[in-house]
Amino acid sequence: VSTNLVSGPEHTMSFVTMDCLFCRIVSGEIPATLVRETDTTLAFRDIMPKAVSHILVIPKEHYADVATLAQADAKLASDVLETVAIVAEHEGLVADGFRVIFNTGEYAGQEVSHVHAHVLGGEPLGPMLA
Ligand code: C5P
Repeated sequence: VSTNLVSGPEHTMSFVTMDCLFCRIVSGEIPATLVRETDTTLAFRDIMPKAVSHILVIPKEHYADVATLAQADAKLASDVLETVAIVAEHEGLVADGFRVIFNTGEYAGQEVSHVHAHVLGGEPLGPMLA
């Protein structure tokens, strides 16, 4: 992957790979329905929701998958999980429960190679492997 430094009047951002779809959402180049932004993370609604609530939580910095992120930057991985928890609370998912999925790699069907937590809830989801 190529890593570019994006500089502009509004922002300066490093560790952004502009051939990555989610990096382009971070940079604002591609629109998304944001639900939360922190210094290090972004949460936005999945464009093809698989549940009443379906939100993606990503680190702004590019890492391919959760295994890579967890080994490279434990603090940032923790930031992602904290945003997952706050988003779930704001969406009203905590009382009934919700699912968090990190598809990791080809066999798991990961389509976007920028680590993202799927946060799913708002309805009964049933057994995961049914
Ligand atoms: O885990 P996986 O890589 O398969 O999930 C990627 C997710 O990104 C899909 O659920 C897809 O609907 C979502 N997506 C999105 N906005 C885009 C492109 C993809 O929410 N612009």
